[in-house]
Amino acid sequence: MRLMTYGDQGRSGLAVQTKEGWRGRLSTDPDFPGDLMSLLKKGGDALVQACDVLGSGVSVDPDTVERRPPLPNPGKIICIGLNYRDHTAEVAFVQPDHPTVFTRFANSLVADGAPLVRPHGSDQFDFEGEVALIIGRAGRRIPYAQALDHIAGWSLFNDASVRDWQFRTTQWTLGKTVDATGGFGPWFVTADEIAPGAAGIVLETRLNGDVVQRASTDDMVFDMATLIASVSEALTLEPGDVIVTGTPAGVGMARTPPLWMKPGDLVEVAAEGLGVLRNTVAQEGDD
Ligand code: MG
Repeated sequence: MRLMTYGDQGRSGLAVQTKEGWRGRLSTDPDFPGDLMSLLKKGGDALVQACDVLGSGVSVDPDTVERRPPLPNPGKIICIGLNYRDHTAEVAFVQPDHPTVFTRFANSLVADGAPLVRPHGSDQFDFEGEVALIIGRAGRRIPYAQALDHIAGWSLFNDASVRDWQFRTTQWTLGKTVDATGGFGPWFVTADEIAPGAAGIVLETRLNGDVVQRASTDDMVFDMATLIASVSEALTLEPGDVIVTGTPAGVGMARTPPLWMKPGDLVEVAAEGLGVLRNTVAQEGDD
């Protein structure tokens, strides 16, 4: 199942992809089953039942509706750095023995189709195409062997980074959670739709149509189960939490000369089965 979060004049909506296209309901509809976060928190068959109800809703055109991130306000957005060896090498880091973790907040999220915003004060705005993992079942100290059972589904992410701010200190967060810099979407894909652990998924980033990153998730240093086991060693993962699982080689900062995103650009993150996340680039204050 593929679910799309949208809105209309302050109301939230949820749609499901059917053979007849996207069908959905708004929160003012008496039969609205709840938003994606509430359905994930309910667990069990809530998502399947919701899709039945949404499937008999009104037709929703993803090209004209007000798009929102699949989860506009996740409890946690946990990002993984240095998770593809070729990327670790290109940015001249030593490959760590444990996952490198930093965080984003919901202020940074941008829906499919909306612009990523380059902030005032920096022109070092870089792309990072990534697979996003969405937790469906809570857990602490989740064993590796059971980790994939905690995944509700998947989406795509552009971990767009303000490089000069990121590397002012050894802690990357301030360059990574700038307002409107995290492309998230285009939709939520349930775990049963793709291979367990998103194994063997080809992930591609395109800037103005040119392929700038291309890798398989099989190239990840720490696979999805390892990320869940490792992060949950420290903290409780909750339904709706998002883990952004790392970017492969090809980022703009590692090129000579650097290839920064600039206003007017189109950046796309694509993966088979997960769709294409498309964002334009705008300058802060342009609109
Ligand atoms: Mg990243």
